[in-house]
Amino acid sequence: MAFAMHRFLASAIVLLATPSTASAADWAIAIHGGAGVIERADISAADDAAIRADLAKALDAGTAILKAGGSSTDAVVAAVAALEASPWFNAGVGAVFTSAGTIELDAAMMEGEGRRAGAVTGVKSTLSPIALARTLMDKGPHVFLAGPAADEYAREVGLSQVPNSHFMTERRRKQLNDLRMRNQGASLERPEVRMGTVGAVARDVKGTVAAGTSTGGLTGKSPGRVGDAPLVGAGTLADNRCGAISATGSGEIFIRTRVASQICDAARFGKVPLQKAADTTLAEVLALGGDGGVIVLGPSGDGLFSFNSAGMYRGRASAKGPREIKVYGDE
Ligand code: ASP
Repeated sequence: MAFAMHRFLASAIVLLATPSTASAADWAIAIHGGAGVIERADISAADDAAIRADLAKALDAGTAILKAGGSSTDAVVAAVAALEASPWFNAGVGAVFTSAGTIELDAAMMEGEGRRAGAVTGVKSTLSPIALARTLMDKGPHVFLAGPAADEYAREVGLSQVPNSHFMTERRRKQLNDLRMRNQGASLERPEVRMGTVGAVARDVKGTVAAGTSTGGLTGKSPGRVGDAPLVGAGTLADNRCGAISATGSGEIFIRTRVASQICDAARFGKVPLQKAADTTLAEVLALGGDGGVIVLGPSGDGLFSFNSAGMYRGRASAKGPREIKVYGDE
């Protein structure tokens, strides 16, 4: 009798679960390549085309995985790794310089079913910080590793190592030199010192969301400075109960505003629509003197963007929606 009741309950639960699982099982992905003073007058037509092509490559890498039934984690890692490999963005190759003329990379990865996470800061020799964050998420035992210990962990698990100079580009070296000439430190009021952090959020056909963010931080930052990108709840968050979020902007203010947590909690506990939760949170960032943006993907629907800056490198695709790549605020 008890067994029969158990079977009845089990099938009732399956029946109840089926419709919502089916509607949540549409894949979707959104990516960003940083937000800031991105204006047509400052970007040549050739550069604009090259940036869009690299955004498209990253979006398509993630999309191919999701279309084939792959996991949101795999899709996020593929998209972010493609952006890390592009010299146009402030992550991996093309990352900004510290005040010491070195490159220190931060990244975080999180998946929303088990709320597993991996994060690294001050990475100097690991080719793909997002792959390192993902490996830490999968293998543990810790969630967050810093500095030489993070690179050492990467070596131990067999992730590719490169000299720090591998990440350096002339464009970013010039940005550091310009800053030094003006005798100014990294300043939150000057968004051009940090443009180009990259991130992705995705939902797979099982309905699991994932988020990943990777960055070089701020031009001229102090060695050892940690931004919002690798902090779960600030620049990166994934939780199937609210969605996945990846942020870019004035890191210190994003940390103080708890950007990703605030968006998630407003949606989860306050039942606020995600777009409104993101817009309200970015308005708070602005009120504290910060700028930037977020990409957000809920348990259903397409990826959303919210930014308080002139532009944000961004793209999205989904099972139902159009494939879009955008750069300027008025697109
Ligand atoms: N949020 C990043 C940081 O502060 C920089 C950026 O997104 O542009 O490290």
